Amino acid sequence: MFSVSKLPRKTKKQKERAAEILEELYKYYPDPHCELNHNNPFELLVATILSAQCTDVRVNKVTPALFKAYPTPEAMAEAPLEELEELVKTTGFYRNKALSLKEASRTLVEEFGSEVPQTMDELLTLRGAARKTANVVLGNAFGINHGVVVDTHVKRISNRLGLTREKKNTNKIERDLMALFPRESWTDLSHLMIHHGRNACKARFSEPPDHPICIKYGKRCECWKMRGQKNDK
Ligand code: SF4
Repeated sequence: MFSVSKLPRKTKKQKERAAEILEELYKYYPDPHCELNHNNPFELLVATILSAQCTDVRVNKVTPALFKAYPTPEAMAEAPLEELEELVKTTGFYRNKALSLKEASRTLVEEFGSEVPQTMDELLTLRGAARKTANVVLGNAFGINHGVVVDTHVKRISNRLGLTREKKNTNKIERDLMALFPRESWTDLSHLMIHHGRNACKARFSEPPDHPICIKYGKRCECWKMRGQKNDK
């Protein structure tokens, strides 16, 4: 489904517009980076599993104690489940997440020589790791642009900026973005959109932001209509 040769077709004009937006995003957010604190691929995998339905800020509060107690896949695989649950409790869905951390660690030890694997198919065998998690790990721990991470910010902003018409299906949104943007930008692209989402294009706002990217490319956004209404008063 994600074969690069089978991505949806995009026109030259659509790709040129995407390239301009990318350039602008780099201009205003020159340091696109992963906001989950980590020192190695294993820590990033753990942090990403914990980030489901939870903010990066909250995950970053939990991981220092977790990594101190269980710094390796071997240690985490052997951890008493109740202790893992207690450590990750504030990230929500903690029973499921604690079990995922323990089971994923066990698979790393038993199947991958205690190393985090570097392919999508292998990462998907780890409990708690779906495509989004795997893309985060591949892109940020190994510099492999396998796909685009589509989180709630990326979903919202790619719709608002007219980069996709798909509202819900994250796989379809990802395929639209992969077809529009050059492969070498895929990992940065989601960080850039997340930075723009936190900085300007928030889920809700009472005033339309005056960010230059919005002024230039947001003419079809709800924001733009608000701006028009405001200017009409
Ligand atoms: S104009 Fe508004 S909705 Fe559009 S990208 Fe900017 S902040 Fe987001």
